[in-house]
Order: sequence, then C-alpha cells, then structure tokens
Amino acid sequence: MKHLIIIGNSAAGHNAAITARELDKSLKITVISDEKAGAYSRNLLAGVLGNNLKFKDIVFADENFYEQKNIQFVSGKKVDKINTNKKWVTFMDKTRLVYDALIVASGMSMSVPKCVKGAAKHGVIGFRSISDLNDITQLVPISHTVCVWGGGLAGLQAAAALKKKKMEVKIIISGNKLMPEMLDENGEEFLKNRLAQQEIELISEKNIVEIFGDSDVKAIKLDNGKVIACDILIVNTNFLPNTKFLDESGFSSEAIKQGLAVDVFLKTEIPNVFAAGNVLAVSDKILGLIDYPNSWCRAAEQGKIAGTNAVAFLQEKNDLKTVYEPKIANICESQIFDLAVVCLGITLKPDDQVFEELSFVDEETNVYKKIIFCDSKIVGFVAVGNIADQDIFAQLIEQQIDISQIKDDLIDQDFNSEMLKQLIDKPCAV
Ligand SMILES: Cc1cc2nc3c(=O)[nH]c(=O)nc-3n(C[C@H](O)[C@H](O)[C@H](O)COP(=O)(O)OP(=O)(O)OC[C@H]3O[C@@H](n4cnc5c(N)ncnc54)[C@H](O)[C@@H]3O)c2cc1C
Repeated sequence: MKHLIIIGNSAAGHNAAITARELDKSLKITVISDEKAGAYSRNLLAGVLGNNLKFKDIVFADENFYEQKNIQFVSGKKVDKINTNKKWVTFMDKTRLVYDALIVASGMSMSVPKCVKGAAKHGVIGFRSISDLNDITQLVPISHTVCVWGGGLAGLQAAAALKKKKMEVKIIISGNKLMPEMLDENGEEFLKNRLAQQEIELISEKNIVEIFGDSDVKAIKLDNGKVIACDILIVNTNFLPNTKFLDESGFSSEAIKQGLAVDVFLKTEIPNVFAAGNVLAVSDKILGLIDYPNSWCRAAEQGKIAGTNAVAFLQEKNDLKTVYEPKIANICESQIFDLAVVCLGITLKPDDQVFEELSFVDEETNVYKKIIFCDSKIVGFVAVGNIADQDIFAQLIEQQIDISQIKDDLIDQDFNSEMLKQLIDKPCAV
C-alpha cells in the first residue's frame, strides 16, 4: 500500500489530507503535527482569547474525524529531518516513517529577531497556536500590561481581545503602518482612530532592542532608549517559513531559500514531494506579482491541489493535470474589534502609472473601502466595516470585467451595487 505523509495539519495540510482521501480510499495517509489538537481555525484564536468563543468552537477535526476518514494522525510530534533519497521523515525522538509521497504544509512562524537580547524569557509569546493562546490566557490574570510587537492582522486581533479583558495594551510597530500589506493612508488613519477610541496605545517607528526581567518579562527597551513596563510581549513580527527540517534533506539551497519553491502543480524540485500553504511563495498569475500568501482560503486551496497531484503521482498517472492558478491573490477575510475586514487581489497600489486607487472613509458608519484599478479593470479591493459587496468585487477581479462606464461612481457611498451585478451579468469583452 502506498503511503502519503503530510507535514502540517492546518489550512493546507488538512485540506490536502481530505482531498487525497476522497480521491483514493485505499491509500495510507499520515498527517503529522507538532501541535496536539486536531485541525482548528487559527483565524478564530482571538475569539477564544477575548472569550467570545470556546476552544471547542474553533476545532473542526477531532479524534473521531481521523478515525472516520482512516487517516493516521501523529500529533504532538515535531519532524526534525527529511531524507528525500531514502524517503524518510525523522522525528525529534529519532523515530521515523517512510513515505512514497510527501506534502510539506508546515506553514510559517514568527520569532524575536536574533539581535534582540532577552528573548527567551517567560511571557514572550507568539500568537499563532492553541499553545500560544493557553500561555497568554494563563498570564492574563496576573498581568497588567501587554505589548504587541507588529501591526499585522494577528497582532491587532490579539490586542483587541486583550483590551476587552481590561488589560493595558500597547502596539509597537517598526514603521508607521498598520496592516501594511492591506491598507493605504486613509485606511490606516481609520484604524488608528479606532485604536485610540479603544485606548490602545500605538508606538510607531520603534523597534524593541532588549527584553528585561529575570526569568519573566518585566519590561522592554525600545531603540530610542525608552523602557516600557509590561508582563506579556506578544511577538507578531519576523515571519519565516517553517523549512528548517528541510536543511540537508536533498533540496538545493535555491529551492528552500524564500519559502519552498514549487511549480504550477505545487510539486517541488523533488518529484514525490509537494507543498502548500504559508510555507510557499507563489506568484499571482493575472498580474504577475509575487506575494507572500498569508491567507487561510489560499492555503486551503493549495492544500487541495497538492493533495490531488500527490495522489495522481502515487497512482502513476503519467502527467499531473491539476494546476494551481491563483486568480485572486491575498484573499483574506477577518475581524478586528467589531469590524469585518476583507481584502481581495492587490491591496497596495503598485508604483506604476497604469494603476490607480480610489478610497473613502466614513467615520460615522465605520466603513473604509479601497479599490485598485489597472486601466479599466479592478485588480484589488479592501473593505473594513461593511464587506457586503465582496462577492461582486471578487467576480469583477477574477473575470477582469471592464468597469469604465461606472468607475467614477464606484466609490460613491450611495452607489448601488445592482449596477455592478448588471456588469457581471453582461461583461464587456476583454
Ligand atoms: C492569530 C491569527 C489570525 C489569523 N486570521 C486570519 C484571518 O482572519 N483570515 C485569513 O485569511 N487568515 C488569517 N490568518 C492566517 C491563516 O491562519 C494562515 O494563512 C493559515 O493558517 C496558513 O495555513 P498553513 O496550513 O499554510 O500553515 P499553518 O496554519 O501555519 O500550519 C502549519 C502547521 O504545521 C506545523 N508544523 C510546522 N513545522 C512542523 C514540524 N517540523 N513538524 C510537525 N509539524 C510542524 C505547525 O505547528 C502548524 O500546526 C491568521 C493567522 C493567525 C496566526
């Protein structure tokens, strides 16, 4: 019996496993995770931290799931090494499994940059896993101030959740941008006002250079010399793909340099090794722009493709047929405070005359919208507060529909989305 091993059990790994099982009932499938829980939604971790959700609400695959699907789930074990010649996966405890095909879906992690002193202290925590969530939750009752390092989505979600718990919250960002991968100046201003309303302090253009305390965090020192007392430091910066276990595995250094390199079939340079999710860097087909995927939907979609192609490989189909074609880069749907957020396509206007940007903020209704155009087509959309139009904009981007007739009206708050729907029904030739 052929053996498919999948490293990682999140958006990409979980979807790879269930797709492979649907396609081949007899295949032996093993999913490995260094986390103990079954698959769960990271996007909802902040909901648990803020007490809106229970832990059981965010887990979508419990023990029964793996039994029912006849998938062997190796949980709480970290892969230490791969040997692609011998087809071995070796764990930290030196035990090993042998595969016929492998899918790497190991995601990425954040860490304190090496130059920062004192990073090993208790209370320096990421915000990416249930274990991080538990560590933060344990410290909350005995803590007063939390510093969040980084202005990305996960950090803001953590900040909002901890503010709800009446903690003093400060966010430290190295530049002056919040969610830099999504928002323009208007959007940022909008979010900054929102932080101020919530009494969350934003400290911009500063980096942390040292973390003080004996064994527990007591304070951080910024690069301007200022020291800020805090009991928890949430690290949401310095993201790196989890490829350490691929060093000396048979991959060329080029293939693992900046995330794992794959072809359109999500196959790596080694024919029986596929990869999916945040561990990759892939290019956007429509616009030819390279982006660093950090979206649940996208990782899940890639997992399905990698699962399909790994099964085709194991069934010795001569050619792989299922191509990964990301039509909309950076699909990301989320929630910060009580605000829904959606991002589609290009979220920052490229520095090129063919691109144009329209945006508006309505402080009263708490709505921010931004549309990015390339000539007469929409290539990007960001909405905060009201995301009702997201499906329509997704179709306009995907189908590259000519919107020149209504371009100037799009940003009008009274604009009727019926007009957009009509364009989708009768698209102009492109
Ligand atoms: C707090 C938070 C909120 C988010 N909110 C949103 C959101 O609202 N919308 C959105 O679209 N995206 C959101 N994201 C991003 C989204 O969660 C990721 O894009 C998605 O989880 C990526 O899935 P993945 O399968 O590629 O990797 P991951 O989810 O990172 O999973 C990889 C898994 O592999 C395991 N692993 C790694 N190395 C090893 C090893 N050596 N041995 C064994 N196991 C290993 C990891 O522990 C992990 O369990 C959020 C992320 C976080 C952290």
